[in-house]
Amino acid sequence: MAQHTPMIQQYLGIKAQYKDAFLFFRLGDFYELFFEDAKLAAKELEITLTGRGGGEDRIPMCGVPYHSAEQYITQLIEKGYKVALCEQVEDPREAKGVVKREVVKLITPGTVMDGKTIADKENNFITSVSDLDDGRFGFVRTDLTTGESSITVLTGGIDEVIYELASTAAKEVIVSPDFNESYLEMVKQRLAITISFEADEGVPEFFKPNCEGIEHDYLVATIGRLCNYLVRTQRRSLDHLQQVQYYTANQYMKIDYHSKRNLELIETIREKKKKGSLLWIVDATVTAMGARLLKKWLERPLINQGEIEERLTVVETLMEQFFAKEELREALTEVYDLERLAGKVAYGNVNARELVQLRRSLQQVPKIVHIVQQLNVPLSERLITTIDHCDELLDLLETSIVDDPPLSVKDGGMIKAGFNRELDTYRDASLNGKTWIAALEQRERQETGIKSLKIGYNKVFGYYIEVTKSNIPNLPEGRYERKQTLANAERYITPELKEKETLILEAEEKIELLEYDLFQMIREQVKSYIRQLQQLAKTISTIDVLQSFATISNEQHFVRPQFTEDRQIQIENGRHPVVEKMIDRGQYVSNDVVMDREREILLITGPNMAGKSTYMRQLALTSIMAQVGCFVPATTAVLPIFDQIFTRIGAADDLASGQSTFMVEMLETKHALTNATENSLILLDEIGRGTSTYDGMALAQAIVEYIHEQIGAKTLFSTHYHELTALEQQLERLKNVHVSAIEEDGKVVFLHKVVDGQADRSYGIYVAQLAELPEHVIVRADEILHQLEGGEKQAVLPAEPKKELKVHEEKEEQPVQLSLFGEEEQRPKRTQVSYVETGIIKDIKMLDILNMTPFEALQMLNDIQRKLRK
Ligand code: ADP
Repeated sequence: MAQHTPMIQQYLGIKAQYKDAFLFFRLGDFYELFFEDAKLAAKELEITLTGRGGGEDRIPMCGVPYHSAEQYITQLIEKGYKVALCEQVEDPREAKGVVKREVVKLITPGTVMDGKTIADKENNFITSVSDLDDGRFGFVRTDLTTGESSITVLTGGIDEVIYELASTAAKEVIVSPDFNESYLEMVKQRLAITISFEADEGVPEFFKPNCEGIEHDYLVATIGRLCNYLVRTQRRSLDHLQQVQYYTANQYMKIDYHSKRNLELIETIREKKKKGSLLWIVDATVTAMGARLLKKWLERPLINQGEIEERLTVVETLMEQFFAKEELREALTEVYDLERLAGKVAYGNVNARELVQLRRSLQQVPKIVHIVQQLNVPLSERLITTIDHCDELLDLLETSIVDDPPLSVKDGGMIKAGFNRELDTYRDASLNGKTWIAALEQRERQETGIKSLKIGYNKVFGYYIEVTKSNIPNLPEGRYERKQTLANAERYITPELKEKETLILEAEEKIELLEYDLFQMIREQVKSYIRQLQQLAKTISTIDVLQSFATISNEQHFVRPQFTEDRQIQIENGRHPVVEKMIDRGQYVSNDVVMDREREILLITGPNMAGKSTYMRQLALTSIMAQVGCFVPATTAVLPIFDQIFTRIGAADDLASGQSTFMVEMLETKHALTNATENSLILLDEIGRGTSTYDGMALAQAIVEYIHEQIGAKTLFSTHYHELTALEQQLERLKNVHVSAIEEDGKVVFLHKVVDGQADRSYGIYVAQLAELPEHVIVRADEILHQLEGGEKQAVLPAEPKKELKVHEEKEEQPVQLSLFGEEEQRPKRTQVSYVETGIIKDIKMLDILNMTPFEALQMLNDIQRKLRK
């Protein structure tokens, strides 16, 4: 094989250091990719694969133009790849041999700073996980765009690590090169996340102050690993990285990943949309940083009553002071994303427009401070004291940058007059020159009598006097020097004009250079305010979230929750905030929840679709809302402070993990049973459904007994095993409740009202009928049910004798008379309408009588009679 050219050798040398990234190799106006990179990139980016060289040694190659590279890089990053940008680092004209090239940036999914990949209202976390070899893991997450980092120890094994990675929506995780491979396999199987390796765990000197207060060496090492990876990939200032916050799981209400998903706190399970989630309900934030903070709050509700009450008091005061709140919202609309801006300032890629946005934001600060001060409650006072108005910075920005600067920082037009004397002088020179030219144009028109004479400018010829062809005879011979001939005009110059031109152009060039220098200087000064800006961002986002709570609490008529220490729940007219908003106004049926020492477990029965799961979720969401400091949907709400919420709701298979529904059900239940305390809330929906009846029922009963005897957590347990309602007799703190339904004219009406006592039946067949299962199935199911209810103990009845199915009208349905409901008063009465009769009623309702002949009507009547007589 022939020797590679020096350039390809250079390529190979660099590529060897970036094996896990696409190497974008700068060649003139293109970034080129070679070998395997080229083949894969051509496929992923749908660009043409070509080759370099000929014959056997032809090297696969593809390329993207330099100016549109960003869109291709974004595509690759979104697919989880990394891109190493390799630039020419010397002037090709001065190069001896192959131009020197270096990787200037490694872009990875967790470290992208801008572009479409980053959503304003989302954090972009990069994470690092260390295995502490005792079942625990160190877990750190950093958002490079905002500079925030937090670290904790996870005690729930690799499963919890996966939950945590999923719930932070981390795009990338950094681990040690010797991280357990089977764990990595599990991560890869269950999450779409980029895994990167970093061996060095020593914290770089510049970052050490940010690790103060982190006690354990193993945690510091976890931070070190992440930090070294950032240094290695970013190759630019990381000054904006903030103090790492250490938190323990015990500081917050624990909601595991499954429960967060099940309760649809941030997004809906099926569609992964914000609409339909709790976040959708409570998000009336105005700023992007407020929106990001709100998400964090929802994922980590508080457990310290004092802190919760502080938030609630601000919310209440804002609700009372409606106009102040509206003014606050208005001021917040002018506040730009200070957190991300601080990141950009550190990276040195902020432009003049963004500095104007920063100025506008800072101008709002006094207004915001004034309003918040007026609230006069402890938290608002504290928030205010942390605010630095950054007056000097504001002053600098007000005097230096014009109101509407251009996007580019190299073309001038950014700096205000009066900011720099030298700049003003050049500007005067340029302006004077231009005024002189305008005067010259006037004078020449008068003197030559050519009204259409004009002075123009282009980059090639500079300033020129233009006279149209028809006017040339009127021009005195030798007045100007001819410069250019156009189709219908001549262009001229004069020595005087050239002289002025030189002055103007010199001035303008100086202006551009000087403006850029001045802008750099301003940018450097802004950099020294990064910490203050980050603090300001924190305070403003907190204020934004609190006003958001006040706004929606006003709109949705939420009330302030009260907390008790005696583990009581007393909710009057509680509502599910999301379902309430999704259905027609006024249709939502509110419900009470009363639980205390005598009512620790509520066993909920009732028809399918009646509202059992809504009732259960309602309690969980209400508790979460209360503990994040928001008002709640009820007329009164007295709640304990829950330390954890566990849920087993819904039947979505965790396909990604390859686990069956029943296995997931059991794993989630295990998680609840092993971690819950008497201060927790457990929601178990239809436990045991995924296995055979007796199995399921036995498990369900054993689980309820265990919670009752061993845990004592407040528990809502919905079940379709009516047999379990007998537990009320044996377990003194368990009470039966049911969601009521009545049957009217052969139709079941769900009242959505939860009342004490057990339900009488599950109306499953009715729901099947609503789903329009074949009528034959419905009738047969009804028949079996009837016989079972009649006391036949067999789980499976003898198979139905084979009947020949005929066309619809001639089916041989058996009318089935349902027995009456039980005798208890509160139970709805069941009328004697069979499913066949229900079908007939439906058919009659559908009749288009006006379009029937008398004979057809008679035939129909005959059919009906025949069906009823059977
Ligand atoms: P179940 O768990 O009993 O099968 P769901 O809780 O899923 O029933 O409720 C089914 C549907 O009934 C919900 O999607 C909602 O539209 C409606 N619903 C539930 N509770 C109420 C209520 N309290 N008021 C009005 N509609 C409700």
